[in-house]
Amino acid sequence: MQELGNFKTNLLGLTQAQLDDFFAQLGEKKFRTQQIMQWLYQKEIFDFDQMLNLSQGLRDKLKKIACLDLPKIASLHRSSDGTIKWVLDLDENNAIEMVFIPEKERGTLCISSQVGCALACTFCSTAQQGFNRNLTTAEIMAQILIAKKEVNSQNKRLSNVVFMGMGEPLLNEEAVFNATDLLLDDRAYGLSRRKVTLSTSGVVPAIKRFADTSSVSLAISLHSAKDSLRDELVPINKKYPIEKLMEVCQYYLDKGDQKRHILFEYVMLSGVNDGNEDADALIKLLKNVSAKVNLIPFNVFPKTIYKCSSADVIKKFQDRLHNAGIKTMTRRTRGDDIVAACGQLAGEVNDKTKRNL
Ligand code: SAH
Repeated sequence: MQELGNFKTNLLGLTQAQLDDFFAQLGEKKFRTQQIMQWLYQKEIFDFDQMLNLSQGLRDKLKKIACLDLPKIASLHRSSDGTIKWVLDLDENNAIEMVFIPEKERGTLCISSQVGCALACTFCSTAQQGFNRNLTTAEIMAQILIAKKEVNSQNKRLSNVVFMGMGEPLLNEEAVFNATDLLLDDRAYGLSRRKVTLSTSGVVPAIKRFADTSSVSLAISLHSAKDSLRDELVPINKKYPIEKLMEVCQYYLDKGDQKRHILFEYVMLSGVNDGNEDADALIKLLKNVSAKVNLIPFNVFPKTIYKCSSADVIKKFQDRLHNAGIKTMTRRTRGDDIVAACGQLAGEVNDKTKRNL
């Protein structure tokens, strides 16, 4: 999807305030914002001609100066466990992936925030692709619209959205924050803030701004409680070490109500971060923090040097944390038969970092 269309404004992805401005410039009243948002996000109509509560004159004007562009679905893959993965073509060189994971009581859509990723986490396949560009708010919102259509047609429900696909959402703050606003906005999706989760590798200054401006849930990709190892696994740790990360986490927790917690993600890498002393370091780090830990069995991808910890080791690690009073769950691997599991999303990236050359 492109924002060109002879400089037409893509109304998809504009927040309520931005739509108010857009219609004000056309000399239209504010209620047009509500009408457009309902057509797009609730009725899922993308053709101005079908928006019958807009006057003919306004519809004609919108056709000239605005558009409602969605990316093309390049392919759709269905896993035997019900997981669905989409590859979306944004433009000639860029494709992103997103995944829907149905469960008994909820359906979670895992969306991308960037084409590739500029960070170089060693255990993540998106990192191997390099980075091309940030997604626009429209491209982020389009993922939800496209997924919802398919999910609804299967009589399933899309109830949760997580920014855990390709990219680092806090290195694309503006577009991502606009998208989270729209996800919570009653005129758009009206999701509760607990049903939207942003996952970050730990961009500390952006977490502070996130705490100040957003109310959605926060997940931190921790993967080690020791700086020496985290420096290696999540290299942004060299810039923002664990102590600084935990300070800003506490700031986020203090801003919310008492029930607020942070989800700490921890990928289980055999012989790397899965020993008793790793568990003990994690317990020490989190013992006074309102935290839940999500252990993620490592998902392999071509040329990786890592192996997943055995089920037995993961269970022992989980029990050790649990016995120390830390709420810990192990994430079930879903969709690995269609390469849709955590960290396997790759898409097609025109790498501008040239990291792989
Ligand atoms: N950049 C963000 C969001 C994308 S990654 C972040 O780092 O949080 C979403 C989650 O998948 C992160 O917790 C990430 O560490 C995890 N992940 C990445 N690669 C993985 C792999 N190969 N196996 C299992 N989990 C992985």
